Amino acid sequence: MPRKSKKPTARTEPQNKRIGKASQKGDLFDRRIEEALRESEKTFRLLVENSPDVIMKVDRESRILFINYTLPEYTVESVLGKPAVGFLSAEDGLRYMQALHEVFDSGEPREVEVGAVGATSWLSRLVPIKNDGRVESAMVIATNITERRRAEEALRKSESKNRALLHVMPDMMFRINKEGTYLDFIPAKDMEPLLPPNEFLGKNLKEVLPADVARQAMHYMEQALQTGDPQILEYQLLVNGNRHEYESRIVVSGEDEVMAIVRDITERKAQAAALEYQALHDLLTDLPNRTLVLDRLKQAVHAASRENKPLALLIMDLDRFKDVNDALGHHHGDLLLKQVGPRVLTALRESDTIARLGGDEFAVLLPATDIDGATVAARKIHEALDRPFVIEGFFLEVGASIGIAVFPEHGEDTDMLMRRADVAMYTAKQSGSGFAVYISEHDRHSPRRLALMGDLRHAVERKELVLHYQPKIDLRARRVVGVEALVRWNHPHHGTIEPDQFISLAEHTGVIKPLTLWVLGEAIRQYLAWREAGITISIAVNLSTRNLQDLQLPEQIDEMLHAHGIRPDWLEMEITESAIMADPARAMEILTRVKTMGIRFSIDDFGAGYSSLSYLRRLPVAAVKVDKSFVIGMDANEDDALIVRSTIDLAHNLGLKVVAEGVESPSVLDRLIAMGCDAAQGHYMSRPLPAADLTRWLAESPWGLKRTG
Ligand code: C2E
Ligand code: MG
Ligand code: MG
Repeated sequence: MPRKSKKPTARTEPQNKRIGKASQKGDLFDRRIEEALRESEKTFRLLVENSPDVIMKVDRESRILFINYTLPEYTVESVLGKPAVGFLSAEDGLRYMQALHEVFDSGEPREVEVGAVGATSWLSRLVPIKNDGRVESAMVIATNITERRRAEEALRKSESKNRALLHVMPDMMFRINKEGTYLDFIPAKDMEPLLPPNEFLGKNLKEVLPADVARQAMHYMEQALQTGDPQILEYQLLVNGNRHEYESRIVVSGEDEVMAIVRDITERKAQAAALEYQALHDLLTDLPNRTLVLDRLKQAVHAASRENKPLALLIMDLDRFKDVNDALGHHHGDLLLKQVGPRVLTALRESDTIARLGGDEFAVLLPATDIDGATVAARKIHEALDRPFVIEGFFLEVGASIGIAVFPEHGEDTDMLMRRADVAMYTAKQSGSGFAVYISEHDRHSPRRLALMGDLRHAVERKELVLHYQPKIDLRARRVVGVEALVRWNHPHHGTIEPDQFISLAEHTGVIKPLTLWVLGEAIRQYLAWREAGITISIAVNLSTRNLQDLQLPEQIDEMLHAHGIRPDWLEMEITESAIMADPARAMEILTRVKTMGIRFSIDDFGAGYSSLSYLRRLPVAAVKVDKSFVIGMDANEDDALIVRSTIDLAHNLGLKVVAEGVESPSVLDRLIAMGCDAAQGHYMSRPLPAADLTRWLAESPWGLKRTG
């Protein structure tokens, strides 16, 4: 295109010169020539005047010496003599002048593209007009390329729009031939490519990607090309120092070429990892959870048996955690739980694991540790937890009970180790020894404990609990004055289970709360049933340690009584000293609140625990129940008899009534009467009976409601 118009301009130069010269000569020859020239000039003019291009003659300063026509806003006269650069922008003008000067200096034609007023674009060819080898002026043939440029621009824009669209897509796209050479690359939004976009083209992926990734990519490409099926590969790359994970889908896009659609899955992977982390960790403490520790235990057992090494599992339960939770609220309880892990870790080796099993229960896994090692570790953990925890200004002392089971002595699989460590922990808790190594005898003290633990949660809902009632006899009137409600569990497989076997379990698992509420509800129901049948009798219900720390309990009792519209003066509660001692201040608060409702208290199992009479004096209790271990032995053991006698005397001095439990014989009963004991309870009068049986007993027994004389 630029060369095409060279011919006519080249011709104009000599013709122009001759026009001037010829007119000065007058001979025939010259005239003929002149004629010919005039013809030629006419042709030339026609050509120039009808040219779609602007044709100008300019001097070195771009002053217009000739112009064939102008744009409508100018006239030929108005532009003649003016510099052509005056119609251009400063920048275009500069380039224009530079090109023009080059034409004058070099004698060679130049081309320059400029935009002019009216947003038109021009491609100007500058051709030197020489005279005697010197460039005298320049011919400018300016082609209006506005339309062409506009079309190009439109095309460019629409293309870049498409490209821009591609840029918002999350995937980078590569077209790659079967040799691995990049044919095209479309970058993606927020994705940094390994190279600047334009540098991919022509490169082979082996030059761009790390060797292993390139090898993998080539392999998958071959697969795709061979089978025609899309292939997906994942790989990692270091981009600007950051590790990214990618997923590349390779699809066949033509003969011997594939399209690789590459997505950055770093975040997705991180999310998946976070989810997995969450599934395996306790959210509160960030420690491994039960699932993870069981898995680690399983692996550790494998490793230990392979390597012929021991392995210890510790199960640990905080001692007074419930108190913290109840007294200060869950917030403080949570903060405490968070501190346990770091504390315990200070006592452990790096290879050891601590996990939270749930609630205030933790597990510690000690690889390559035998019984002695585990005992040392347990002692250290115990010491670490014995120091008070400081939580938002409170000094909290919790402590822990730890059970130890060791592979292979105590179990060869995870299940057995978990069970036995738990049984040992339970023993440690019961005995207050801090920690205990499993011995098979523990099983006798906690038979079926683990299996029962799960079942107990449902026992209340499944209505497997039942109350039996044991009469209390007033020893002066020789008549029944009330009954004690004692819970039993009718287990679907194990039959009747005594409360001694599951009450502490219920305490341990927190089931005690719904259990106690059930007992209260059931006692209310039975009281109303008996009242309906014309039997008015008071009922005593047992409370456990955790009930005495449950500040909601008084209110819940009140609500239950209210719901039935009954006064509480028929209701009694039995509490043990140890339950009070777990948190005397709180127990006192609860006792006081329940007492103001009109409910009487007695101290159960008196003599078996602390027997702190100074406390007794301050408690709002009406009676003490002498522990049956003393009463049963009274006949055979004078020490026991002495204890019973002094308890009766002391209690009377404090203004309290005395109930003797465990009366199994008439001789014991007689001695109790002689000692001035107020009431008695025991197998001799009646075992605890189901409600229907007790109703019969009340009607038939000499101690029943019917006076026998
Ligand atoms: P406890 O409150 O001291 O109940 C008296 C226990 O002594 C009962 O055992 C009763 O059956 C037993 N007993 C009564 N007379 C005699 C006797 O002459 N000789 C002997 N050897 N034993 C006698 P049980 O029913 O097995 O209850 C054991 C403990 O379980 C209760 O001791 C009480 O602490 C607890 N318990 C029972 N029911 C409940 C309950 O509903 N809630 C709570 N928190 N604890 C309960
Ligand atoms: Mg009792
Ligand atoms: Mg008792």
